Amino acid sequence: MFCVECGAEPEDLYDGLCRDCFIESKMKVKVDSPIKIDICPVCGSVRKKNNWIENPDLEAIMLDKIDDAISIPYEAERYGFNVEFEEEDPYNIVANISVKLEREEIVAEHEISVKIILKKVQCEICSKIHGNYYEAILQVRPTKKEMTEEQKELVIKKVKKRIEVKEGEKRNIFLTSQEEIHGGIDFYLSDTGVTKNLAREISNAVGGSVKSSAKLAGREDGQDIYRMTYLVRIPPYESGDFIEVEGSIYRVKKLKGGTGKVILKDIKTGKKVRMDDKELENAEVLGGDELINKSVVVSESEKEMKLLDPENFDTVTVLKPEGFETEDKEVDVIKVKRYLYIIEEESK
Ligand SMILES: [Zn+2]
Ligand SMILES: [Zn+2]
Repeated sequence: MFCVECGAEPEDLYDGLCRDCFIESKMKVKVDSPIKIDICPVCGSVRKKNNWIENPDLEAIMLDKIDDAISIPYEAERYGFNVEFEEEDPYNIVANISVKLEREEIVAEHEISVKIILKKVQCEICSKIHGNYYEAILQVRPTKKEMTEEQKELVIKKVKKRIEVKEGEKRNIFLTSQEEIHGGIDFYLSDTGVTKNLAREISNAVGGSVKSSAKLAGREDGQDIYRMTYLVRIPPYESGDFIEVEGSIYRVKKLKGGTGKVILKDIKTGKKVRMDDKELENAEVLGGDELINKSVVVSESEKEMKLLDPENFDTVTVLKPEGFETEDKEVDVIKVKRYLYIIEEESK
């Protein structure tokens, strides 16, 4: 038996070749060069196939890419490689690769240097942020009176909290812009679902109804793309306020978000009433806690109390709200248009 390549007559032949000729012609390694990796210059994300990896382990990604770039001959039964990286600058790296191929007891080793080019490409999210991308608008608007500073702060805080990116989380939820307009605030957000939830959350906190509308924004992959607007109409009253509706005085107990339903208490009778923001459209907001005064109890019967009017110290008879009881010598009252009303302490 002899080697078909060089004519030598060794003891063992591999595919008809002597050891040296086999290594020479069959145990070759090819590495595609240069290796290109897309890296976002804004946030440092790296593209892996169709995904952008945030906070990437760049070395692991380079090793993966090298593994993909190495072509091993099918004659090799096993292979392994080691890499030493040499940074020319942050975007140009040389990988010195030692590849080891094995076939039976034959070992072939190769040293190959490959250039790795990190190409600056803005990632999907950074280019969306940069391009003022938004999917939905959250509109928060007051009715009649201006939004209070507290309401504005609360609303902004809720939006900021929702878009906050925690360590290891994706940054795909972001606020593109925010503007104060018509006494309220508009938020342009990157995610429709999040905007919808925020609208509900805000209306739960400040009351009012949520209305949505869709606007055709274009077509993508043969499908119509809509941009949603979620409008939260903040009512002019807050929880704890006193309002007058068709001659009756109510205290706002609870603002139920989303539907615009409001739970009120008729302060004369002590009965709870439920109304919606339509029925309360013409409500007059009298004020909040600042209307409450102390009034001295002169005497008490089953249904009434004789009280001293805190303004002029006249003795007046006031109907007790249903279920009202007190041991105190003073009660909380408000005075609306000459009439005193007993205010039950809020259970908080
Ligand atoms: Zn040979
Ligand atoms: Zn980026």
